[in-house]
Amino acid sequence: MPVAGGEVAELTKPRGRRPAGPPRVGLLSLQGDYEKHREALRALDAEAVRVSLPEHLAGLDALIVPGGESTTMLRLLEATGLRAGVERFVREKPVLGTCAGLILLSRTADRLPAPTLGVIDVTAARNAWGRQVHSFSAAVDVAPLGGAFDGVFIRAPRVTRVGRGVEVFATLDGEPVGVRQGRAAALTFHPELTGDPRLHAWFLREVAGLGGRR
Ligand code: GLN
Repeated sequence: MPVAGGEVAELTKPRGRRPAGPPRVGLLSLQGDYEKHREALRALDAEAVRVSLPEHLAGLDALIVPGGESTTMLRLLEATGLRAGVERFVREKPVLGTCAGLILLSRTADRLPAPTLGVIDVTAARNAWGRQVHSFSAAVDVAPLGGAFDGVFIRAPRVTRVGRGVEVFATLDGEPVGVRQGRAAALTFHPELTGDPRLHAWFLREVAGLGGRR
C-alpha cells in the first residue's frame, strides 16, 4: 500500500478557495454602465473584473449585472456564448443586478427577446414609471442601511409581483425597489451613480459574505 505523504498533504490542506485577498467581482460588460460600478468597487478595495466572454467568469466571487438595455443585454448574452455560464454562475454565486440587471435576474418581465435568468421570483414591468418620467432621483428607504439612499431611476422597471421567499429590502413610497432572494439581490435604480458605495458594501458583506472595508 503506498505510504501517504501526498494523501496527508491532501487531507491537511486548508479548505476553502484561496488565501484571503480582495474579493474578485465580475462586471457583466456587454453594454450599459458597468464603469461606474467599477469605481464603487474600487472605493471598497474590491477587484473589478470585466466579463464579456465565458472564460472571464472563472475564479470570480460575485457578479454585478449593470443597468443598460435588457433587450440588448439578453441578445449579447446569446451572441457571446455567455448565457450558459452566467446562468450557472447566478445560481451558485452571489449576484447584484441594477435596473436592467434586475430585469435580467427576475423570473418574468415583459417584451423581451429571450427568457430572463429567473433567480429572483419577481415580475418586472419594463419602463413602467410612465413615458413622462424617464428619469428621476428619489430618497429610497433601504432597511439594511437603516435609512435613506439617494436612488437614481432611469427608465426604470417596476416590481409588480413579489414571490414568496423574496425579501423586499428597499422601498420607494412603500413600493418595492430592492429585492433579494438568497444570494441574488437587485435594485430597480442605479446605486453606482451617486458616489455612495454603501449598497455595494452591503452586497459584498451581507449578501456575498465577502467582508469588505465598510
Ligand atoms: N429601460 C431599460 C430596460 O428595460 C432599463 C434601464 C436601465 O437599466 N437604466 O432594459
